[in-house]
Amino acid sequence: MAENSSGSNSMFCFQCEQTARGTACTTSGVCGKTVSQSELQDRLTGELVALARIEDGHATEATWKIILEGLFTTITNVSFSDEAVELQIQKTRDEIAKLHPECTGTASCPNHEPLDMRTLWEGNEDIRSLKSLLLLGLRGMAAYAYHAYVLGLTDDKVNRFMIKALVALGDDLPAEELLALDMELGQVNLACMALLDKANTTTYGTPVPTKVSTFIEPGPFIVISGHDLKDLELLLKQTEGKGVQIYTHGEMLPAHAYPKLKAYPQLKGNFGTAWQSQQKEFADMPGAVLFTTNCLMPVKDSYKDRVFTTEVVSYPGLVHIDDNKDFTPVIEKALALGGYKTTKELTGINGGNVLTTGFGWGTVLSVADKVVDAVKAGQISHFFLVGGCDGARPGRNYYTDFVKQTPKDSIILTLACGKFRFNDLDLGDIGGLPRIMDMGQCNDAYSAIQVAIALANVFECGVNELPLTMVLSWYEQKAVVILLTLLSLGIKNIYLGPTLPAFVSPFVLDYLVKNFGLTPTSTPEADLAKILGK
Ligand code: SF4
Repeated sequence: MAENSSGSNSMFCFQCEQTARGTACTTSGVCGKTVSQSELQDRLTGELVALARIEDGHATEATWKIILEGLFTTITNVSFSDEAVELQIQKTRDEIAKLHPECTGTASCPNHEPLDMRTLWEGNEDIRSLKSLLLLGLRGMAAYAYHAYVLGLTDDKVNRFMIKALVALGDDLPAEELLALDMELGQVNLACMALLDKANTTTYGTPVPTKVSTFIEPGPFIVISGHDLKDLELLLKQTEGKGVQIYTHGEMLPAHAYPKLKAYPQLKGNFGTAWQSQQKEFADMPGAVLFTTNCLMPVKDSYKDRVFTTEVVSYPGLVHIDDNKDFTPVIEKALALGGYKTTKELTGINGGNVLTTGFGWGTVLSVADKVVDAVKAGQISHFFLVGGCDGARPGRNYYTDFVKQTPKDSIILTLACGKFRFNDLDLGDIGGLPRIMDMGQCNDAYSAIQVAIALANVFECGVNELPLTMVLSWYEQKAVVILLTLLSLGIKNIYLGPTLPAFVSPFVLDYLVKNFGLTPTSTPEADLAKILGK
């Protein structure tokens, strides 16, 4: 069994939905995280708290980048490499020394010391729960802020809140204050998602509804996974005229809808289904794979030679493409593998071979009149937002069954990789509006919020009075911050599954149920009957 630097073979991590026994991973991560990786990620988090404590208004662009990268590194299925996390810890320590040169070490400045994360994991259960919401949500927001940053946009409000929240993790604060900070994080994340939406749409155009094939054409190809549109753009530029086709995977699917990305003829289609199937789907694939963000699973020997990482993603033994973004090794690997000899007819999990994406808020609101008329005419009775992360646990077919059982006069808005449970289904349309509308990646929850607010304005009511129900699936930390955003907007009666987060204590859950009507999913039949009042 792996050990950490102090010789212990135990760890503590409960940040994702697949955590062991539904309580915490304590001897190894279900995701593949080792004891030493867990210790290093905790140390990195503790160093980020120290950096936040000494920052005192002196942060530079380099400081913000280190904080974003550090938080992003600790998201589930991002980093598996001890070397990469050690490097990130060193960068953080160097930044502390740069911002605080008069401080020569821990003896002279207690703030210089990294926070020992065990004080959080081993502390009072409710304080731990509220601080975990803050830390894990912060990790999620950092991922969104990072994507906006690489496209040239930052928001001082977002950066400053990261400092405030990191400092709070080490402070002795009462539950009420921590709860207020959790809600404030939700609000700040709304601004962060708006920033990313602006970065994406000003750089690549407003998404347009686009049909994406699941078939893979003959010839060399690269599969690009994760959320980073900039990496996709760079890869598309570098593969022009090289005879290599590009296929999206997982959360990269919505990239097909951006006009400036879809203009590249070699951007062909989508490979496979959601992230948790990658070990099976990549096993005998004659193409190269590039991971730009999560979700990377432990890489099997059968395809290890063809997987590449970039940005904060890392895995021992894989070639990492650094900030110079020279994708030559990926392209050469694709050419050497040669691709399929004939068209490979892959399908979604329900057997469909066309996925439609590109229903961002700009598109949906451009047909708002049609939507409103259909509601007033009784053609649309209900809207469901069925979205969030997919995952490996049994029970996630809830979302497939739920969507299949929704009334024929309802619209399903979706986003993030949870949609791979049903995005190959053809549920028809209502007056020309498709019944399933894919709004994009997880960060495009911003789109869903914009649409909900616009509908509430048209119908002169609050979002909670709309015939709209949110049925969310969660897996990792970006879903945590999106949930906080929805709660901070006062959105009630959200259904959450497939299981509740282990880091939500009974007291905090009771608060969320009483104040927001947060409801654990049960069965599609029972939940639909309750939602529709039958
Ligand atoms: Fe366990 Fe999830 Fe933490 Fe991995 S990220 S160690 S699966 S709780």
